[in-house]
Amino acid sequence: ISNTSLNEMGAILREAETILIFPHVSPDGDAIGSCAALCRAMRSEGKTAWILLDEPVPKYLSFMDTEFCTQDRGIIQNPDICICIDCSEDSRFRERADKFNEGRLKLCIDHHITSGSFGDYYYIDGDEAATAQIIYKLLTEMNIVIDKLIAESLYIGISTDTGSFQHSNTTSETHLIAAKLFERGIDHVKIIVNLYNNMSYKRIKLESEILSNMQLAAGGKVSVSYVTQDMLNRYDAVLEDCEGIVDTLKNIEGVEFAAFLKEKNGSVKVSMRAKSYGNVDKIAVKFGGGGHIKAAGCTLDIPMEKAVDLIKQELSNYWEN
Ligand code: 5GP
Ligand code: MN
Ligand code: MN
Repeated sequence: ISNTSLNEMGAILREAETILIFPHVSPDGDAIGSCAALCRAMRSEGKTAWILLDEPVPKYLSFMDTEFCTQDRGIIQNPDICICIDCSEDSRFRERADKFNEGRLKLCIDHHITSGSFGDYYYIDGDEAATAQIIYKLLTEMNIVIDKLIAESLYIGISTDTGSFQHSNTTSETHLIAAKLFERGIDHVKIIVNLYNNMSYKRIKLESEILSNMQLAAGGKVSVSYVTQDMLNRYDAVLEDCEGIVDTLKNIEGVEFAAFLKEKNGSVKVSMRAKSYGNVDKIAVKFGGGGHIKAAGCTLDIPMEKAVDLIKQELSNYWEN
């Protein structure tokens, strides 16, 4: 797949009157933030634009600019453009793939190296810390004014995908873009409080059980834990309440690989993180998933106990062979 320039992408978007925007399933801060920024920007250019989701916006992101998010597939008939954002494989928006294919032109903007070939125009850069950085560049290229709401959406995308500017994907450019967004008057305190200082009591209680179930392997280089529907029910919690727990598993001294396994619709969703040296994308790809070198995931259709053993073994083998 060869990239279309952002200049060209801008020109294609300018031609369109109706634009339907597709983030990946289980959208995160970067997916919602990038889509919200693009959608508001396209509306400021006089276009009809909506963000189509499979599910409601996750509660922890509901403070964001989600005014144009909808689950109504009929919101635009035969859009001029369908554009998938923060995902470049149709498996990441499979339930909406039919609708995506209604687009007269199909576009894709993403920072995941894995990529399909279902669209007409792509802009994929695996070196970008967040898709929000690409959207920032696109809007700048298009000379669109980045207002406070757009700036907040982009900032949230960058903050969440870099783990508050901690992950190795953070560059000087990340900080330069963040600085530009600050200049648009973002409410930084509001964003940080909502993203990071807002954990429910039941989440903390659930996390304490998850951490007490944690297993270490490979001489302490690997940490693994899991959550089942039973555990969630006991705390009246949902999977969303587990956001970020994989990072706690990774933050342990000496740990290089962390895996957090979640029971979801009868399958096991695996979240993996690497600290300094390893590549978890390799392991995710082996099981039909993907992601980045230091953050990747996959889905296993085996019981939780077996999945925990399998992933623990795979992650350990990486260090022992
Ligand atoms: P998370 O662990 O936060 O769910 O995902 C970490 C990273 O791995 C994200 O960048 C996400 O896009 C990617 N990822 C997670 N699950 C999957 C999957 O099933 N397939 C692919 N291709 N990527 C995934
Ligand atoms: Mn994402
Ligand atoms: Mn992203």
